[in-house]
Amino acid sequence: MQDFFNDQSEKNHSKKSLYKYIHRKIKVSKAELLKEFHVPNTTMTRILAELTDRGLIHQAGFGEPTGGRPPVLYEIVSEVAYMVGIEIARTDVRVMLLNLRYEVIGQDRFPLTKQHTPQVTIEMIINMIETLMERYQISSLLGIGIGAVGPIDRENGVILNPESFLATGWNDVPLGQILQKKFSVPVILNNGANTAAVAEYYARNKQEENILYCISGYGIRCGYIQEGRLFNQKQGDATSYEHIIVEANGRECTCGSKGCLKTYVSFGAMLSHLQSQGFSATIDDLLNSDEPLVRKTLMQSANYYGIGIANMINILHPDTVVLHGKLIYNDSKYYREIIQSINKHSCSRNHKITIRKGVLGEKATSIGAAIQVFNHFFE
Ligand SMILES: [Zn+2]
Repeated sequence: MQDFFNDQSEKNHSKKSLYKYIHRKIKVSKAELLKEFHVPNTTMTRILAELTDRGLIHQAGFGEPTGGRPPVLYEIVSEVAYMVGIEIARTDVRVMLLNLRYEVIGQDRFPLTKQHTPQVTIEMIINMIETLMERYQISSLLGIGIGAVGPIDRENGVILNPESFLATGWNDVPLGQILQKKFSVPVILNNGANTAAVAEYYARNKQEENILYCISGYGIRCGYIQEGRLFNQKQGDATSYEHIIVEANGRECTCGSKGCLKTYVSFGAMLSHLQSQGFSATIDDLLNSDEPLVRKTLMQSANYYGIGIANMINILHPDTVVLHGKLIYNDSKYYREIIQSINKHSCSRNHKITIRKGVLGEKATSIGAAIQVFNHFFE
């Protein structure tokens, strides 16, 4: 099983391409495969038989008949291998087990407190992976994917120096190496905004889409997929988007500049603004209060967020913008205000853009982390 995924030989390459095509199409007939791969019928029959014998694909009913007998359909066997997807956010860690169809088999999570140094956190992650594997009787993994708060060193699997972690010690944490050594499988680390973008891209199964995925809350982070390929920033620092300037000479930012998106849209910025107006609010107030000053601050935030996204649209030309964050899901007026602002400020006259909420919610980052593991074997 692992052999098939690990085999990089030219001979195996065509089989892997075929396998990936079946995976993407979910169910597919031999006639459709012949049309796509231009190999003789006998060769196709032989490859399909081999993949079936190895337990990688199986027959899955019949398709619509086109004249003669209804064609046999093939699909991948989703339970022959599993991936682990991990999210490391500022406030909590989520660990998931997924099958090859990207279906979540089991999951667990824990909050990150002052006690959760890297050492404690990594021990808990290892325990969770082992417990999940035991619970679902899984003996071997295809790999482990991690979506973490940046900045990160993607190549070496190191979490560099993320802001705002409650515990000390989160500097140069070689998480990738540690998990690789422990489980002897590939470990792929990326920024959480990137892996979430990957998950939303596959959730709709539209393979050629350009997606801009934007997370708002404590900070603003974005991931971008262009024609199916993830745009990887150097050091995986997806937070740089929050320093897009939306108001020349606006509010002062921690980066030393003025009028950055973050200074209007992040939870912290909104709370400081309310404080400066003599109103001491909490994040809970932002999410639930009807207080006019809170509502005014939120609508102002939504307007600036729309300006920031409009700027990104004008540069990147995405087909779809996916918004994710507590306010996006909980506050329909906030969400609508963002859309109005995007439409007002973006130059997309010849280009229809879909704006939608994330369909995977909080699970997107860890699901996308696992999907990256699967994709890694087909690069
Ligand atoms: Zn800034």
